[in-house]
Amino acid sequence: MRYAEHISELVGHTPLVRLTRVTEGLSATILAKVEYVNPGGSVKDRIALKMVEAAEASGELRPGGTIVEPTSGNTGVGLALVAQRKGYDCVFVCPDKVSEDKRDVLRAYGARVVVTPTAVPPDHPDSYYSVSDRLVGEIPGAWKPNQYANANGPLSHYESTGPEVWTDTDGLVTHFVAGVGTGGTITGTGRYLKEVSAERADGGPVRIVGADPAGSVYSGGDGRPYLVEGVGEDFWPGAYDPTVPDEVIPVTDADSFAMTRRLAREEGLLVGGSCGMAVEAALRLARRLEDEDPAAAARAVVVVLLPDGGRGYLSKIFSDTWMRSYGFLPDEAGVTAGDILR
Ligand code: PMP
Repeated sequence: MRYAEHISELVGHTPLVRLTRVTEGLSATILAKVEYVNPGGSVKDRIALKMVEAAEASGELRPGGTIVEPTSGNTGVGLALVAQRKGYDCVFVCPDKVSEDKRDVLRAYGARVVVTPTAVPPDHPDSYYSVSDRLVGEIPGAWKPNQYANANGPLSHYESTGPEVWTDTDGLVTHFVAGVGTGGTITGTGRYLKEVSAERADGGPVRIVGADPAGSVYSGGDGRPYLVEGVGEDFWPGAYDPTVPDEVIPVTDADSFAMTRRLAREEGLLVGGSCGMAVEAALRLARRLEDEDPAAAARAVVVVLLPDGGRGYLSKIFSDTWMRSYGFLPDEAGVTAGDILR
């Protein structure tokens, strides 16, 4: 009989799927790494497992302890899964821009959820960083993984995501594209892929391309608010090594959400907004390759990582009413709300 002892043992080994519709007119092979098939539904299961195991090994997390983390949802689910297996409690702090659906998921796994305002700077006492620090001080046996600074986040991707991409493409991957939130995915996966391909004779090392919401610091912005969840920052987290990406492509909310909806309708991939953002960046990259060097474009194998599924965004990105309210869809008369606001 082949079975796992617990669902948390099934993290990683996610599949690659070729994108065929949204890539029309492009000769590059564009492969999506589908992270929503992880047991908790996102790429964040990988870092949750690694951070908890490392904290147990170092003695920071002891039996009966409580995991306290500021998380936009996905890291919380991963931590909740691992915590259940190992008998820890969880308290998660979420900014209020995170959908109610996502917060309910955390509660369903048995975690407690504290909601904080999005529109305050990170050093404000009500910011989700400050509130989580305060809770760590107040709860006995509390441990904060701190995914923004924890080196085990990028390390989990160095040890799992990177080798999976390399092996599943038979070492033919030429570009890796991922959204940047804490920076863990791009830093760990990118570092591994660059190292393993450094001596490659044909085409050189894998090019690492970040995608982030226009306005975020990674692509030169000032932290101006954007609606896409889980990516972009208004500060530079320790989990991000800016020397790993060769470039970072900014994508607007409108373009991210339009592509997210196309992925569901045209590719059968019901995924989150940061996935649409990453695919939009991957397609821009592929278009540029096509313009610059069609022969190289035809040989290119672009892997784009899709961090989570779309079920947590049904009342937002997949709701016409919500999309219209921000001017991302034309209203009934063909005039966009954006036109009116402008
Ligand atoms: N997309 C979503 C939906 C996320 O939750 C995250 C994690 N914050 C990311 C993308 C970015 O991943 P990373 O933190 O590894 O940069």
